[in-house]
Amino acid sequence: MTQTEQATQQLADALKKYWGYESFHDLQLPAMSAVLEDRDSLVVLPTGGGKSLCYQAPAVCRDGMAIVISPLISLMKDQVDALKANGISAALINSTLSNAEKWNVAEQIKAGELKLLYLAPERIGAGKLLDLLSETKISFIAIDEAHCISQWGHDFRPHYRELKRLRERFAGVSLHAYTATATERVREDIQGQLGLEDPEVLVGSFDRPNLYYRVAKKNSVINQIQDVIGRHPDGAGIVYCISRKEVERVTLQLQAFGFKAASYHAGMDDVDRSANQEAFIKDEIQIIVATVAFGMGIDKPDVRFVIHTGIPKTVENYQQETGRAGRDGLDSECHLFYGGNDFRTWKMIFSDQPPKVQKESLASLQSMMDFCHNISCRHRSLVRHFGQELEKDCETNCDICTGDIKLVEDAQKISQMILSSVYRQQERFGSKYTAQVLKGSEDERIQTNGHDQLSTFGLLAAYTLKIIQDWIGQLVGQGFLIQDESDGYSILKISTTGQKLLKGEIVPKLIQPEAKSSASSSSSKSTKTRSMVGVDDGLFSALRELRTTKAREKEVPPYVVFGDAALIDMARRRPSNATKFLEVQGVGQKKCEEYSEEFLAVIKEYSESNQLDLDNDKVSYDDSSPIEEKPPTAGSIESFPFFEEGLSVEEVATKVGRATSTTYGYLTDYIRNRKVSDPSPWVDSAIASRVEAAIAEIKPTRLKLLYLHFEEEIDYKDLRIVYECFRNREQ
Ligand code: ADP
Repeated sequence: MTQTEQATQQLADALKKYWGYESFHDLQLPAMSAVLEDRDSLVVLPTGGGKSLCYQAPAVCRDGMAIVISPLISLMKDQVDALKANGISAALINSTLSNAEKWNVAEQIKAGELKLLYLAPERIGAGKLLDLLSETKISFIAIDEAHCISQWGHDFRPHYRELKRLRERFAGVSLHAYTATATERVREDIQGQLGLEDPEVLVGSFDRPNLYYRVAKKNSVINQIQDVIGRHPDGAGIVYCISRKEVERVTLQLQAFGFKAASYHAGMDDVDRSANQEAFIKDEIQIIVATVAFGMGIDKPDVRFVIHTGIPKTVENYQQETGRAGRDGLDSECHLFYGGNDFRTWKMIFSDQPPKVQKESLASLQSMMDFCHNISCRHRSLVRHFGQELEKDCETNCDICTGDIKLVEDAQKISQMILSSVYRQQERFGSKYTAQVLKGSEDERIQTNGHDQLSTFGLLAAYTLKIIQDWIGQLVGQGFLIQDESDGYSILKISTTGQKLLKGEIVPKLIQPEAKSSASSSSSKSTKTRSMVGVDDGLFSALRELRTTKAREKEVPPYVVFGDAALIDMARRRPSNATKFLEVQGVGQKKCEEYSEEFLAVIKEYSESNQLDLDNDKVSYDDSSPIEEKPPTAGSIESFPFFEEGLSVEEVATKVGRATSTTYGYLTDYIRNRKVSDPSPWVDSAIASRVEAAIAEIKPTRLKLLYLHFEEEIDYKDLRIVYECFRNREQ
């Protein structure tokens, strides 16, 4: 074994032994290796990417004690509790400790008992502590939430600047910085401020594939919220509102409907606010209704939904706030309901800002509006905002890809009417005015300007002003129109791509705004989320109950006992003994010793009374692409002649003005409808033969089974095409 292989093995063993995890998340291994090799590092991973493990696992593998700098007192405590629950000796020093407790920790440090010591940044100024640490074997120093050192970050903390001193004080000890903040400027600042030397810089993908994103106009927001909660009757959720008043109102409404909900905003009494936060973390309440003030310092991994009842201030805010859902990697939902007075409310909030800042705030808000109106895969749009690209659309996990939105059939004609009106109005008016002209409104200003004589006047009289204005917003979002604010007014101008649209060279997309205005999305139809497929709900609830009891006994949040992911895996596997219990994801040795007896007893009893087999080794996976028949849509039928002509999927996509991923769906319809039996125009024949052989052998009912059969090596697109052709041949 080479040295690198040995290190990898050591880390994998630690992961299994202490955390009960089988594999590394993306970039965790190189990040951990940098720590073992004493090479400075800067690791940028999104929330839920597993940053903590990047330093915790190496800390248990190395001699000595790691110092972890963390800015948030509540987070530190939760992390230390979680480490101890896994059998790792860790402690913290911050202002909440009594002198006796500090003394106790100092004794542990002197005795060399600790693997990790969490410190608040202000402790670095404390001379006595530094002296003690200088006499201790320090394995490395990890700096969590490292963006706090940068004044360009969203959470600058002056005390973080003191961390420079660590480098001087602990010469030869490597420094490792971790953050979820994506901007290049902040990254460079962290490196410079900390004086990282030739660091290993690792930047992960900002996509969160387990999150389902949906954006919809708000109508009756309380009903829309209830729809989402209805799908997660036991799941924790955060509802973000723009104003404190709205927080209070929504909380009262949810309570009146019988939900366990509480508020959180900066105007509340400190004690009440912390009590509500604590109750949420401990699952004593299900829903926290909050302003943006809520979230920092919350490590709760099992938040199943995040709802915005109004448009967030920036795309960064949206990414950060929705990022609090599903940190444990399980399917979770993010719903944004926008419209109404949102824009006006933000404008009022911004009105106190100096003019330059206000302009920036409005520009950021506009980017967020554009995101709402954009009609490409939400996952793609989000990562693009942070300068990254996705290889392909998410295909199954946003409203756009799942077809949860209804597209307007004659979008091209309508868009041309809108742009043509903007042109005829000499690009001197805003969105509302343009909508009024197209509606044929009898507004005095329109008559004075003679715009009631324009050929576009009243062309869209059949639609409401709100719909027309919304379409204009969508055309801005897709870059066909530009909202020019340079003169202090918001004026519509036609962009270069807009001119192509006018000439008929580009086909735009428009959403039918009132199509599905409640949360009755296709995702809502599925009563089970994908993570729960193959899991007995009753057993899962029984295990949750036991977890709550244990958490209360130990005075820790329930997820410190076991995360949802572990309980789901337990309920799926139904282990009968401690050895099998250890195979559950998230069960390490310590937790196995501590909890196996009681959890196994619940599993046994439940399984017996419900005639379920124990030791279910055929762990069933969900297939996000079930093999089922759906009638083709009008858009799909339109594509058939192009496939007939022999055009490639990409060429057809351009012809019909749809995303390639959507066009692959059309191809499936085409193959089914025209009973095509030869996949060779689209799939390499060697691959097709292998897939056909596998279909004959395993007779899959879900594409996922084929996908797993080929160890994820063959793309879903290819599998589906071959499957459909095979089926036609068999019939
Ligand atoms: P971050 O700090 O980047 O937001 P965390 O360190 O809190 O992420 O990890 C998010 C969740 O993922 C936690 O519940 C953690 O235990 C879990 N996790 C981390 N690494 C792994 C892994 N390799 N396998 C399974 N779960 C993991």
